[in-house]
Amino acid sequence: MQVSTKSSVKSASVVHVGLDDTDSTQGKCTTHAAYRITDYLLNNKSIEFVDYPLLIRLNPNIPWKTRGNGAVCLRFRTSHHEDVLDRIMDLVHKENLVATGANPGIAVFCGETIPYSIQCFARKALYDVVSRKTAEDLAARHQIRFFIDGNGQGLVGSMAAIGTLLHEDHTFEAVAYRKQERCGTVRRLDSAKVVQLDAETFPYTFNNYDKAHHRVLILPHGPDPVFCGIRGESAEVVSFALGNLQISEELEGHMVFRTNQGTNQHLQNEVGFTDIKCYTAGFSQCKVDSRPTVIEGGHALFSVRDSSGAVVNAAVYEPTDMVNFASKLEVGDVIKIGFGVRKPSSKHLRTLNIEYLQVLVANEIFETANPICIICKKRMKSEGTNKGFRCRKCGLRNRDAKKILIPKTRMIQTNLIVPTPKAHRHLTKPIHRYGIEKNMENTLEIKMWSPWFSKNLGLAEDY
Ligand SMILES: [Zn+2]
Repeated sequence: MQVSTKSSVKSASVVHVGLDDTDSTQGKCTTHAAYRITDYLLNNKSIEFVDYPLLIRLNPNIPWKTRGNGAVCLRFRTSHHEDVLDRIMDLVHKENLVATGANPGIAVFCGETIPYSIQCFARKALYDVVSRKTAEDLAARHQIRFFIDGNGQGLVGSMAAIGTLLHEDHTFEAVAYRKQERCGTVRRLDSAKVVQLDAETFPYTFNNYDKAHHRVLILPHGPDPVFCGIRGESAEVVSFALGNLQISEELEGHMVFRTNQGTNQHLQNEVGFTDIKCYTAGFSQCKVDSRPTVIEGGHALFSVRDSSGAVVNAAVYEPTDMVNFASKLEVGDVIKIGFGVRKPSSKHLRTLNIEYLQVLVANEIFETANPICIICKKRMKSEGTNKGFRCRKCGLRNRDAKKILIPKTRMIQTNLIVPTPKAHRHLTKPIHRYGIEKNMENTLEIKMWSPWFSKNLGLAEDY
């Protein structure tokens, strides 16, 4: 069965529900709250989903985020849109979907198209710091009803999720949820199955397993209700891969999200170094201004200069496995970097945390050497400052000879360098995805593949 956006629900409007920050360090998960709300909505005959649930990862440099800084948007058509927020809130309270200590935001917008100002707000929330006040003003201007609790910071993410259409590059993730009584217990999964899954489905699924470090990447480790998540290029492939894992634990179900994970969507804006803001993200084409030094802990520190001459510190951290490469940089190398801006502290200056690195032009570097004797072709010896050189073999003296410059062979690659999979952030674009980015410009209508949602998962026959 395929569901298109053409509605059979008469005179219906599209409702966009944004959801953020229902989780805390104590547990729960915003995507799981979205799963329960989706279950409720799918049981209602007058509701028709027009897109997969979107899982939007926002600026990962925000220090007050919970875990992955992920917000969710659910888009569906219904003729009963007036009381959607009240019905969702009833469910949230009844099923206790918000964690203690969370700062949830749930917002509801009705309309066929998303206003441009909300789309701009969403774009900014990917790489910048946006305030709750801006989100509240925007909600008031567009008659958006919302619920907030705690410090209300969740409104920012819920509004940003509503404003994200994800018409550009995107990926999918099939997330499997545990039954409540299993939350907090060890997740049991045969890692050989994950290795096999990775071998059979790569590059259509990715970041299942870090081969270099023998680490399974699909299982979270906290008390939250996520059993595992499989990331990939289509709803079909991630669902099939999940079904083929033969998970022995009985699960609550699964849901496929369309997401900006693995797209570098937070690194799309070019940033100058003059007025660089803490916690923002972006990219720059710049020059190496000081040679990297590798400090205790294995991190590489150096400085970079932009075209205006502004200089800022930069760091490549050990867990990324990029230090060996970065340590070969030389002053004057033209590089392209993606980064997040770390706040200065008493111990370090404001620093760019590098998320990818490419040498565009390797600067020619030289070493100096003594001149060569024209008679015996041996290197001469210095007679002292400004006193010229003398050949030790034949005794030839040359008072005017100068040191010579010999070009040094550079052992640096010019291909793009990204962190090893285990150090990836949700938004980090894996190296194999460069060149296969999606673009929906010509296909705004989303064809949904029906098994994107299931209950009581755990049997392969479900697929
Ligand atoms: Zn000589």
